[in-house]
Amino acid sequence: MSYCVNCGVELDDTARFCPLCHTPVLNPNQPVDAAAPTPFPEEPGQVLPAVKRDAAILLSAMLVSVAVCCGVLNLFLRPGQTWSLYVIGAAAMLWLWLVPPLLARGMHLLLRLLLDIGAVALYVAAIALGMDGWSWYLGLALPIILWGGALLLLLGLVLRVNRHSVLTTVMVLTGSIGLFVVGVEFFIDRWLTRSWDPGWSLVVLTVCGGLLIPLLVVRRVPSLREEVRRRFHV
Ligand SMILES: [Zn+2]
Repeated sequence: MSYCVNCGVELDDTARFCPLCHTPVLNPNQPVDAAAPTPFPEEPGQVLPAVKRDAAILLSAMLVSVAVCCGVLNLFLRPGQTWSLYVIGAAAMLWLWLVPPLLARGMHLLLRLLLDIGAVALYVAAIALGMDGWSWYLGLALPIILWGGALLLLLGLVLRVNRHSVLTTVMVLTGSIGLFVVGVEFFIDRWLTRSWDPGWSLVVLTVCGGLLIPLLVVRRVPSLREEVRRRFHV
């Protein structure tokens, strides 16, 4: 058995280079054994893809079990009210969030987000149906869900392009929170008073803006960016 002369890591008999620091392996007492099997696969496709189907089946079974148990309990506990529909709806929403991404390998992020947003909209619609509240659903809940969904899609799109930049991620996230809150207050105001009198959301937006300015400066100045990268290990 050899050890790397540079970093000291234990080396496999088949290693010609240290896998960590790439220092060539020269041990006259133990020549490289090229015939022995390597400790890791060298060709793509040798590692079997992780089986996520089992996890999907288990998750589905758990959610169905919860839905059925609550449905049965509803027959005995307050049978006049359909409270179990809310739990069943929540289980269906969780299923849509969790299981399709497990089954469809490499599912596109935007498709996944669209599915998630659709699941939320459907669940809240089911609640509105149960409470006979179509007016608040269409006037308040749906616009907020769509606004949040649009921002989420935008966020997903930007982060997909800049997935390795932590600074960009933090900036886009901060900006999205500010915009979302303004939208929420706009829709609430419009629903309650038919006018828009921005108040608390502007405070949140200003805080987000205040956070964005130093981040923007750090992003623009290469020396600062490097300093932040080193200090925060990003
Ligand atoms: Zn090494």
